[in-house]
Amino acid sequence: MTSPVRVAIAGYKGKVGSVLAAAFQIEPGIDYVGGIGRGDDLATFLHEKRPRALVDFTRPTESMHNALAAVAAGAAPVVGTTGLSTADIDKLETACHAKHVGGIVAPNFAIGAVLMMHLAETAAPLFDAVEIIEMHHAAKLDAPSGTALSTARRLAARRKDRPFTHSKAEKETLAGTRGGEEGGVGVHSVRLPGFVADQEVIFGLPGQTLTIAHRTTSREAYVPGVLLAIRRVTAEPRFYRGLDQLLGLRND
Ligand code: NAP
Repeated sequence: MTSPVRVAIAGYKGKVGSVLAAAFQIEPGIDYVGGIGRGDDLATFLHEKRPRALVDFTRPTESMHNALAAVAAGAAPVVGTTGLSTADIDKLETACHAKHVGGIVAPNFAIGAVLMMHLAETAAPLFDAVEIIEMHHAAKLDAPSGTALSTARRLAARRKDRPFTHSKAEKETLAGTRGGEEGGVGVHSVRLPGFVADQEVIFGLPGQTLTIAHRTTSREAYVPGVLLAIRRVTAEPRFYRGLDQLLGLRND
């Protein structure tokens, strides 16, 4: 029998980190060795607890430092914190290769959200118009969500020769009601208490629409994707950019 994978969390008191910590404690095959918060001594923690993976849900300004420290200690970084630059991710990948440890940086660990984007990309060449409606909790700082913007860009990239048509209202009696636009894709943001992170991609053709929707009801939505990533990056020293790559939905 293989021994349980020792896992630690940076940001274990945060909104996502606390949900992951609770899930890890009851997950077979996972040995949750503890977490660190802001101001804790990460180097000592890593030395004492010897995790094989460090899951990071902190802040963009902190997560690179945490992830590089993890790699230096021989632990695979599983980074969910959003906002890392491409240069940061390149640097982390190089560090992982040098230490022969696996790793992943994924801006979205919800398996359904990753599939929603993938399925929408499949539909994009066949429909001439599409709009995205994303719905998040009222405290979200940015709009639109990173997932909505990234979806719009990926859909537009599938239509290079025939851009999507985005119909403008001839007369807008309330400013902003047609939402934003990215690459011909209409984008609308709803902010209300009660939502976690939902998104609908609505395609249109004469006589029909196709809606691909992903709904989250709690931050437990991130648990299965993070567990999958932990198991994969501790089993072999490969580095993944995004959960879609780890799921085999992208081959680069
Ligand atoms: P949050 O509730 O603010 O949690 C962040 C936690 O990290 C806080 O407890 C914070 O402590 C702690 N922290 C700050 N600096 C730290 C450091 N140097 N070392 C260890 N812990 C530190 O935020 P959240 O909603 O959980 O989100 C965290 C990150 O994950 C954000 O970047 C968010 O965009 C991203 N996110 C990603 C996904 C995904 O699927 N990839 C899903 C949801 C969220 P203090 O409160 O004391 O500062």
